[in-house]
Amino acid sequence: MITGRRTQNVVLTLGVFFCAVAFAGTQGAKDAKDAADAVVLHGRIYTLDSKQPWTQALAIRGDKIIAVGDDATIEKFRGPGTKIIDAAGQLVLPGFVDSHSHFFEGSIFLNRVHLDGAKDLAEIRARLTDYANAHPGDGWIVGTGWDYAMFGQEKMPNKKYLDDLFPKRRVFLDGFDGHTAWVNSAALAAANISKETPEPAVGSIVRDPQTGEPTGALREDDAIDLVKRVRPEASRAEKLAALHAGIKLANENGLTRIHAAGGHFESNDFDKLELYDELRRHGELTLRMYVAYFLNPPELRQQDLDAIEGARKKYSGDWISAGVVKLRVDGVIESHTAAMIEPYSDDPSLKGKLFWEPAKYNSAVAELDKRGLQLFTHAIGDLAVRTALDAYQHAEEVNHSSDRRPRIEHIETVAAADISRFGKLGVIASMQPLHSYPDADTLDVWARNVGPERASRGWSWKSIADAGGRYAFGSDWPVVTLNPWEGLQTAVTRQTREGKPEAGFVPSQRLTVAEVVEGYTLGAAFAGRREKTEGSLEKGKLADLIIVSQNIFEIDAHKISETKVCTTIVGGQVVYQSDAK
Ligand SMILES: [Zn+2]
Repeated sequence: MITGRRTQNVVLTLGVFFCAVAFAGTQGAKDAKDAADAVVLHGRIYTLDSKQPWTQALAIRGDKIIAVGDDATIEKFRGPGTKIIDAAGQLVLPGFVDSHSHFFEGSIFLNRVHLDGAKDLAEIRARLTDYANAHPGDGWIVGTGWDYAMFGQEKMPNKKYLDDLFPKRRVFLDGFDGHTAWVNSAALAAANISKETPEPAVGSIVRDPQTGEPTGALREDDAIDLVKRVRPEASRAEKLAALHAGIKLANENGLTRIHAAGGHFESNDFDKLELYDELRRHGELTLRMYVAYFLNPPELRQQDLDAIEGARKKYSGDWISAGVVKLRVDGVIESHTAAMIEPYSDDPSLKGKLFWEPAKYNSAVAELDKRGLQLFTHAIGDLAVRTALDAYQHAEEVNHSSDRRPRIEHIETVAAADISRFGKLGVIASMQPLHSYPDADTLDVWARNVGPERASRGWSWKSIADAGGRYAFGSDWPVVTLNPWEGLQTAVTRQTREGKPEAGFVPSQRLTVAEVVEGYTLGAAFAGRREKTEGSLEKGKLADLIIVSQNIFEIDAHKISETKVCTTIVGGQVVYQSDAK
């Protein structure tokens, strides 16, 4: 890590790999007082500034870009103390923003047993056994990442696959989407969950239809919390160490800002604002954070407003800011908890249901909007999306507000009639390309549940954009990887890495590389109300940029996910440099 500013020309040797060579020239310097702290030269810079989309070089002073132009122009900013960063013909982009992550959880999850990608139950059991052997004792085994397709016809996990391996040790396994937990009998017992336990307000304790015994599957927050609350919490030092690791991982992947989308799994980034601030005070925060307050149903309370307003006042800077509230109006399609206008295709007795009573949701949205707060609403089913659009429209009408940029998160399905409302109402579509990744979970479970007609509007970012709407991209980490290059490839190809399905999954929604890059940079900055200072490489904006290993505009789109980040610069400081050779 190279973060210090030096008094002499410092030549950064960018790790080779596909990552460039050192610059060793000596050029006449300008008057020292006009000199830049750092210059990036010889790049192929895609600026996202329409006045000058492609150029070669830029100059940085303090945490800002002071000039962008060709090499000759930027050479003039070079003084005796200027750090030279030679991009050697590599692609330079604005720093990427992850518009939807659960950053604290993701960081904590780095230490869990990971079940994603397991091909069947046997592999899950093998991974759990390996983890237990590597972490002996009687501590909880906590894991994440299983998906519904792993259970075939049964569709849902069951304690019986855990009890024989772990008769005494407690096991808690989050599904990849955070909406269903899978626990063993020991964990159910620790939480006192039995046949007699009443159903929680949101979600359900899945029970055997014959015996009424809990099966070990817990749907949605209130049910999952029954077990979570008996699990021991990480210490402060463990949390800080986890955040450190998460921030490092983000910078390595080219991320310079994340939007923390509130609670999803067990913990809310909003409660961790002071941990982020502690990192900032110690100069260890190298990732900008926009952190949402997670507002639970059934209604907005004074104590919520106090917490939101208190945090907004305290955190409003370039590094940590908090003027945003996240609400969740439904669940997910895979477990039939997403709220649909028409019944599910695979089980017509189900339509999902709204987590909020619409009138209470409308009034919460209107009150928060009146205060100038931004809103994120998780809405996956087409009824949930419509409910959010209706509430945003209502808020605009009663408050006469403008340019609030309320967002809908996910939008996995949308009624045809609602697509044009994003543009008309100025509602931002915040979407996660990897959720549309056409693997078994998407094609077998998701598509079966919604049926072909609704699946034909799955993840309709292009239709929303064509109708004048704006979009921003993110990951939903730790639901999927934090790596944005995988998402970028998926939004361009709508195929798996292996190129399946051949024609693409709803190929009409494919975007160009430039359009997807915009969703991760300028579009994301707009969606976080930061486009005046971030999102493109222009004079006066923050010097947040990345140098990458390949020119994604020129290569086969199926290789975009292989992109490696060579250098990540945040606020003018090199916070990550690849040492790959
Ligand atoms: Zn999420």
